Amino acid sequence: MTSPCPPDNSIELTPIGHIQSDFPDKFGVPRQPGLADAARATLVLDPPHDDPLTVRGLEAFSHLWLTFLFHLSPPRWTPLVRPPRLGGNTRIGVFASRSTHRPNRLGQSLVELLHLETTGGVRLYLRGADLVDGTPVLDIKPYLPWAESRPQARAGFAPAAPDLLPVRFSPTAQAALAARCDATSLGELIQQVLGQDPRPAYRRGDEARTYGVRLRDVDVRFRAVTSETGQTQLEVVEIVRM
Ligand code: SAH
Repeated sequence: MTSPCPPDNSIELTPIGHIQSDFPDKFGVPRQPGLADAARATLVLDPPHDDPLTVRGLEAFSHLWLTFLFHLSPPRWTPLVRPPRLGGNTRIGVFASRSTHRPNRLGQSLVELLHLETTGGVRLYLRGADLVDGTPVLDIKPYLPWAESRPQARAGFAPAAPDLLPVRFSPTAQAALAARCDATSLGELIQQVLGQDPRPAYRRGDEARTYGVRLRDVDVRFRAVTSETGQTQLEVVEIVRM
């Protein structure tokens, strides 16, 4: 006799580690890896995957694929999504997108491996990750440029990296930045993150509004300013310790 209930095809996965990054929450995180080189992250392997044997030979690779869970996205999905890249109004299929709202919530990012530490646990120091602090990582694989690099590939609605907006700092923000020991790297990170224009597409015309992006231990308050020539810039109004 056949069962009246659909079969349970679910699969259980266990994270191998988690990410520590400059991004305490989703807003402002670059929309793909490699867009903010100043973003540093550490992948800390969790027991029992933190045996140094699991990463033997990995230091010989400059780049890695990470498979991870979009743990901050709700486990709901719809067949159509609205990518920010298309202005937030046009719908395309979820499988034609890199949306975080997808079945199984799996993410995949190519990141640069700067350094591997295997004493007292395993820590991978990474550059360019587009991952929120605390992201559970499910797998690591070395990147093979001869097999996986396809510069001539067609890339649909996202044919090239998005244009960057100019970013400037108010005197108040500049002073707050200068007082920090990580002034140089935080300044670069702010430039790169805001340059991507993290404002939601539907807010882009709204100049009166101030936004906040959390980076490391600060809230970066910014607003859009349009010059007489019609060019939009983002101005960092203040940098506040959280
Ligand atoms: N390169 C990945 C991610 C693309 S979407 C992929 O293609 O699968 C990138 C966005 O994911 C970021 O802008 C950030 O807002 C979001 N994000 C990063 N880590 C997340 C997490 N743990 N949970 C939910 N969303 C996350």
